[in-house]
Amino acid sequence: MFIPKDLVTKCCKKLEKMGIRGSTPESVVVDVQIALGRNIVNMKGQKALDFLQAFVGNAAIKEPRQEKSFSCLKELTVYLNSSAGQARWRSLRYDILERDKGKCCLCGRNAHAHGVVLHVDHIVPKSVDISLAFDPENLQVLCEECNLGKSNRFSTDWRNKH
Ligand SMILES: [Zn+2]
Repeated sequence: MFIPKDLVTKCCKKLEKMGIRGSTPESVVVDVQIALGRNIVNMKGQKALDFLQAFVGNAAIKEPRQEKSFSCLKELTVYLNSSAGQARWRSLRYDILERDKGKCCLCGRNAHAHGVVLHVDHIVPKSVDISLAFDPENLQVLCEECNLGKSNRFSTDWRNKH
């Protein structure tokens, strides 16, 4: 999907005002998605563009029809594996560790007191829905043991269970 440069610039400015810094043309769709809590990545190209236009303007955002498309998903996969995507993941990973107070959301153990290795887990696995890869709401801290037990089998949100 091609996003005009001026639209990217406007989106980045608006995101910065909302406290989301460091957006790049590659990550802008994902960033707007996180800011709005809407699955823009899954929208068809033109629909996603309309959404971005509405995001930077004051136009009301129309509810998108349910349409399956992977036009942006391919770009997201490329972005995920790029060095920019990896850097973004490391930074997000740190934020999630901080948010979840550096302990496993399932067993409550932490690295300091219990010597466990902590993972930042995708509640809905990337293999199931890659569009949620950078969504903080889809991330939780699990220790290695709990995470390996979980594997890709279920999407239980263990946060706030303690
Ligand atoms: Zn655990």
